Amino acid sequence: MRLLLVEDDPMIGEGVRKGLRQEGFAVDWVQDGRAAERAIDNDVYDLLLLDLGLPGKDGIDVLASLRRRGNAIPVLILTARDAVSDRVKGLDIGADDYLVKPFDLEELSARVRALLRRKSGRADPVIQIGNVTLNPATHEVFLDANPVALSAREFALLHALADRPGAVLSRAQLEEKLYGWSEEVESNTIEVYVHSLRRKLGQDFIRNVRGVGYMVPKSS
Ligand code: CA
Repeated sequence: MRLLLVEDDPMIGEGVRKGLRQEGFAVDWVQDGRAAERAIDNDVYDLLLLDLGLPGKDGIDVLASLRRRGNAIPVLILTARDAVSDRVKGLDIGADDYLVKPFDLEELSARVRALLRRKSGRADPVIQIGNVTLNPATHEVFLDANPVALSAREFALLHALADRPGAVLSRAQLEEKLYGWSEEVESNTIEVYVHSLRRKLGQDFIRNVRGVGYMVPKSS
């Protein structure tokens, strides 16, 4: 899952980016409102973490113009403003949730997971497909009742596919979900991860749709 973080405070930005990367998210970070709009126009994100007080363009204005253009990306506001009216305004203008600074990284991660779940139309925090179970909060994966050890990238790839069973994701789309701007993508990494996931979860678990991409079939 790939997130865009918009935060002009370098300490908070660095801390949030690092924390969320450790949780297995790909995170791109920009520090002003205009750069946020450019990033959203150029890349596909699963969620936006948006500070309100920003140089260039205020977070409220960034959000308002996103929603006006019909962009439905989940938005979590990060704000130091303790005025209730700012939070109400943010929510009424189209934010999905907010956190008041200073916040705990664990709580931020949990709220991000909750929003991503809602975006995918799931209420259950655990994803079950056939005999494979994965838990995005703990990164645990089970095949039947047996725990399966995955690397962080393997988990991220599995999560991206399992989040939308039946949907085909191209290699480029998977790379976008796994890697932020500053991370080098090697040419055959997705194939390598798919190979490894098949070895661990069963050859048929990830289907190759020739010329299009990969999918995890819906459970029958
Ligand atoms: Ca700020």
